[in-house]
Amino acid sequence: LFVVFEGGEGAGKSTQLALLAARLRDQGRDVVVTREPGATGIGERIRSLLLGQPGSEVPSPRAEALLYAADRAHHVATVVRPALARGAVVVSDRYIDSSLAYQGAGRTLPVDEVSWLSSWATGGLKPDLVVLLDIDPHTGLSRVAVRSGATDHLEAESVSFHERVRYAFLDLAATDPKHYLVLDAARPADEIADEVARRITELLGT
Ligand code: C5P
Repeated sequence: LFVVFEGGEGAGKSTQLALLAARLRDQGRDVVVTREPGATGIGERIRSLLLGQPGSEVPSPRAEALLYAADRAHHVATVVRPALARGAVVVSDRYIDSSLAYQGAGRTLPVDEVSWLSSWATGGLKPDLVVLLDIDPHTGLSRVAVRSGATDHLEAESVSFHERVRYAFLDLAATDPKHYLVLDAARPADEIADEVARRITELLGT
């Protein structure tokens, strides 16, 4: 089973990923928690090109899209597919929808081209479920600002950029509701975790 968490900045993806992984491990399941960009050695290097030090050179939009696609191609080939093949549950922090939302809607590259690029990069691997943690960018960005860590790449983007990203995620979910669980990220973390667990239990048929 391949589960992806998507959402804007400060949506609480990492918290929910960790809660889900802990529950599944308690049930004795083999769980692989992973993320994009940066889950592999090559991915780490790509991540530092994309989200590097403040003041470092910023890739042009098409170069950025190709770097995310390269990270994803390597991630899928070396982490995700092998784990799925042995029957593990793979839980990824971001996947294709992030590219459609950030590089497509955010950077205004043609979404169908970004989509094609992602399909090519992954050999067409689709998640069984995307959990979209929906958050208003003002709330999300203020949550991130109070947290420690590098946020300079976020502050470089306008609120309208993050709004385009948000609505792109919601549009994707609306066109394929069977494969999405959209949750209000402003709700308490334990309630969100319960809803996610319920849906995953259904999918696992247990
Ligand atoms: O999920 P995480 O916070 O690690 O993502 C790091 C940043 O990478 C995000 O804040 C987002 O701005 C950016 N990103 C992106 N396009 C993607 C994935 C992530 O612009 N496809």
